[in-house]
Amino acid sequence: MKYLLLLLLSIPLYLMLHKYYPDKFEEKYHYYFTGFIIINLLIIYLLTYETPFIYQLLQNVYYSDKNKPTINLNGVDQNLLLKTQISQNQMNQCHQCHNPIFSQDLYLYKLQYIQPIQFGGVNDISNLKMVCPSCYSFQ
Ligand SMILES: [Zn+2]
Repeated sequence: MKYLLLLLLSIPLYLMLHKYYPDKFEEKYHYYFTGFIIINLLIIYLLTYETPFIYQLLQNVYYSDKNKPTINLNGVDQNLLLKTQISQNQMNQCHQCHNPIFSQDLYLYKLQYIQPIQFGGVNDISNLKMVCPSCYSFQ
């Protein structure tokens, strides 16, 4: 609110300066000043009445890199290291049926998100599970 008052006070100040020192002002300065006022009013409007929109916008910008799918869930061999690690985290058992996972069959197992990304899950190894082909086909 104080900022809006300051902005509105700057208009008569500008006009007064223009009145007393007309030779210092070129025509382009009017356009600059008008643009400055309009952009500031727009920012004040957005921050006051469209706060959720601004918040969402900034959040999207902030998280745009982090939500990129860095892990390819359909890859076969490129996820072998990741699969080995998740297999150890699951104590070499399928996440659903608890049948043992054999390291030579790792390429048959499927990686899935525990909490899917579109439902708020994080794209992190802690949110990944590995299921055997039969569990995967029955989902
Ligand atoms: Zn299973």
